[in-house]
Amino acid sequence: PGARLRVPFGRRQVIGIAMGGPRPLEVAGRTYKGVTEVLDTEALLPADVMELCSWAASYYQHPLGEVLAAALPGPLRRGGKTGLKEPPASPPASQLETPPALTVEQSAALAVLREGQGFGVTLLEGVTGSGKTELYLRCASDAIAAGKQVLVLVPEIGLTPQLTARFAARFGAAVASYHSAMADGERARTWLRARAGQVSVVIGTRSAVFLPMPALGLVVVDEEHDGSFKQQDGLRYSARDLAILRGQRASAPVILGSATPSLETLHNAGAGRYRHAQLKQRVHRVAPPAIRLLDIRGQALEHGLAPQLIAAIERHAEAGGQSLLFINRRGYSPALLCHTCGWQAPCKRCDARLTLHRSRGRLICHHCGSERAVPAKCEDCGGHALIPLGQGTERIEDALRIALPGKRVERFDSDSIRKRGELERLLGDVHAGKIHVLVGTQMLAKGHDFPGLSLVGILDVDAALYGSDFRATERMGQLITQVAGRAGRTGQSAEVFLQTHQPQHPLLRSLLSGGYRALCETLVAQRQEMRLPPFSHLALLRAESGTMATALEFLQHARAALDQGAGPGSIEILGPVPAPMEKRGGRYRAQLLLQAASRSALQQRLAAAVPALDEHPLARKLRWSVDVDPLDLF
Ligand code: ADP
Ligand code: ZN
Ligand code: ZN
Repeated sequence: PGARLRVPFGRRQVIGIAMGGPRPLEVAGRTYKGVTEVLDTEALLPADVMELCSWAASYYQHPLGEVLAAALPGPLRRGGKTGLKEPPASPPASQLETPPALTVEQSAALAVLREGQGFGVTLLEGVTGSGKTELYLRCASDAIAAGKQVLVLVPEIGLTPQLTARFAARFGAAVASYHSAMADGERARTWLRARAGQVSVVIGTRSAVFLPMPALGLVVVDEEHDGSFKQQDGLRYSARDLAILRGQRASAPVILGSATPSLETLHNAGAGRYRHAQLKQRVHRVAPPAIRLLDIRGQALEHGLAPQLIAAIERHAEAGGQSLLFINRRGYSPALLCHTCGWQAPCKRCDARLTLHRSRGRLICHHCGSERAVPAKCEDCGGHALIPLGQGTERIEDALRIALPGKRVERFDSDSIRKRGELERLLGDVHAGKIHVLVGTQMLAKGHDFPGLSLVGILDVDAALYGSDFRATERMGQLITQVAGRAGRTGQSAEVFLQTHQPQHPLLRSLLSGGYRALCETLVAQRQEMRLPPFSHLALLRAESGTMATALEFLQHARAALDQGAGPGSIEILGPVPAPMEKRGGRYRAQLLLQAASRSALQQRLAAAVPALDEHPLARKLRWSVDVDPLDLF
């Protein structure tokens, strides 16, 4: 089991993975084809990775073959060679960095992390700059000294280079990274080196959770709250949750690190299932700046910016500081409005408005990607007064360039940063103090270190307060806290402004007066009352089709199948109903929500009903999927 085979499949030859030993070719009167070629003389996928894949396939209701394929890098999946050259030589120990002496608080947290033997999960909660990474390094050092390997998961490719550099400075060449932006061959090489025990530390994104590491002795999930750990299509797995399982199977400790832990993780820590280590101070002793609300009701705004905020940015730029403006929306404006009749340029394929990308002269749908030229006049009344409604990063950038002549303003989002190396180049300019104002999306909220940052402006959080998604407010709190945490790392007096039309909103007030944890207490109470996670477990069945009726009919059938399995530990089934965004990319979308007090009741019911759904005649006519522990309900 675990070896690759070449097998006939229809008229083609494909690569498969052996799941068991040889079987007779004649079974119950049917003759099966034999294996063409055995590619590996020993298991390529080790037993523990095979087990993890089987578990994931059954938990996430996904075909095992696809899970196994996801666990292999492309070249190996296609039958590539598994030979390795000599591992690269490590620099002499004298060139490696000496660790700093820990602060009192760090020492206390490290003691918690070192408690117990073997598997155990510890939440390491600490504000940005409090020295969490230093503690990952210490725990990694313990593991490496014991001859073990370390797996570090990060939510984003952009965060791997800096973290890899920090680990490499401490441990030398036995540190490797693993993510989807790497060249195929390099990915396969890291995979094979990890499997051969030639690397001690791998820093990778989501899919690295499947890496073979025979001596796994520590698992770290950095920024554990981040939604990027959940894959949103195909195998909809949570790399954080699988990482915990992986640690358990390997009897290795697991560290979940975050400045803003997810409600699930806080709940588990509160219930005593996880240990809890906290770092409340920044290493360099600068308190995180207080967030101030900027009440913009009734104010004359400059492209959505309060005059006070613009003045503050100018003041900081004059004093040699840097400002960061955060708005989680790309483009110039999220809508183009006819002032005469109220028409708003719609996407023809989605229930959505088109976003104006002015510099490119295009209207683009952020849901399906369709785009077209900006019309010269209203398509309804023919009027010429078309005005951009609302703000995106491009508009804020434009407005600040005009307001601050002579100052360098740069935008950071996936439109402006498309080429490899572009982000690194711009970040280099930020560090060199050549950029005065950074305007960006969540690309800027995560992990990056901006020593010169003295002002942060957060725009447009109001939408999250009234969003339909039950996780929107938790995410808002995390984003605000993370973005604010970028400021004032090295001592200058920093300011953080939050522009809002809702200065009295209770959630904003609790975030501002009591911080992220106070917000969480309010949110947890709401979740408990509504029996939402972490107080229940969810699964979402989605169907998309050319007509809404077909999608609903299929889910109605799914509901009947799920109802049949009714037993003890009952579950609640809601729907089918049209999805909050009914039409997307030209397809109509419907959903069925399953809610259960116990994970196992939910699992039993899904296992009994889901595999047979593919046999329904409608299943071929539409796309459907199951999302266990969904992050989004739309
Ligand atoms: P976090 O991961 O919580 O953001 P880091 O571990 O990156 O925090 O620490 C923030 C900064 O402080 C880094 O530049 C790091 O090198 C430094 N640092 C961490 N621990 C210590 C220490 N004990 N003594 C001196 N500097 C430290
Ligand atoms: Zn019009
Ligand atoms: Zn669209």
